[in-house]
Amino acid sequence: MRKQIAAANWKMNLTLQEANELLDSIAEKNIQLSEDQIAVFAVPFPYLLLANDKLKNSKGYLVAAQNCFTKESGAYTGEVSAPMLASCNVGYVIIGHSERREYFNENNFTLSQKVDVCLSNNLKPIFCCGESLAIREGGTQNGYVETQLKESIFHLEASQIENFVIAYEPIWAIGTGKTASADQAQEMHAHIRNVFAEKYGNEVANSISILYGGSVKANNAKEIFGKPDVDGGLVGGASLNASEFGLIIQSLKN
Ligand code: PEP
Repeated sequence: MRKQIAAANWKMNLTLQEANELLDSIAEKNIQLSEDQIAVFAVPFPYLLLANDKLKNSKGYLVAAQNCFTKESGAYTGEVSAPMLASCNVGYVIIGHSERREYFNENNFTLSQKVDVCLSNNLKPIFCCGESLAIREGGTQNGYVETQLKESIFHLEASQIENFVIAYEPIWAIGTGKTASADQAQEMHAHIRNVFAEKYGNEVANSISILYGGSVKANNAKEIFGKPDVDGGLVGGASLNASEFGLIIQSLKN
């Protein structure tokens, strides 16, 4: 089975003390993961080392960054590079979250550069894609998401795609309490897998974990994750609560 992943996106939340408490509460739950399951914690940069330390004895619990810069080093005050993240034992990096696309003008080309710099530093991208409400209402979401994938990822070789996680996050469902239905998620995930299959073949397409993101909560995770092409979730708000996120981890397929 391809990896089933519960990924927490803390965004720009929590003080150091709060981060400590949340990581302790999660570790204390001692939720055992199967070989095919992973829990990923995308914490703010200042907490990466702390998170790695707190989760080091929890098998299958990994740490992610929420972003990285396109360049490897140099005079880019305030930025954080992929080699820096790799040196802090970070496994994954969220690339192209809709908030970065919207507030920091990240476009498909910028994101292709970020993807490249992650891969050349052995960091696995959790690549986000997804349409706005206007696009969904216009019925052109499939083509829109396909273009996002093609313009940022399809320059890569098949062997590099194995290191990818895709997160489908309809913008209209992020932080709004409005979730795509499990069927809407399945429909888009199947489309995404098909787009990968056309370019890279079925074997590669079937090996990619495709996560759903957008108001995933403990009370809807099982239904959404139960769909055949949904391999877990990228979770914002609900990941800030240990009990809630614990239940979401336990909703992964096994
Ligand atoms: C996200 O930030 O990736 C997200 C899906 O947020 P939320 O779960 O709060 O909708």
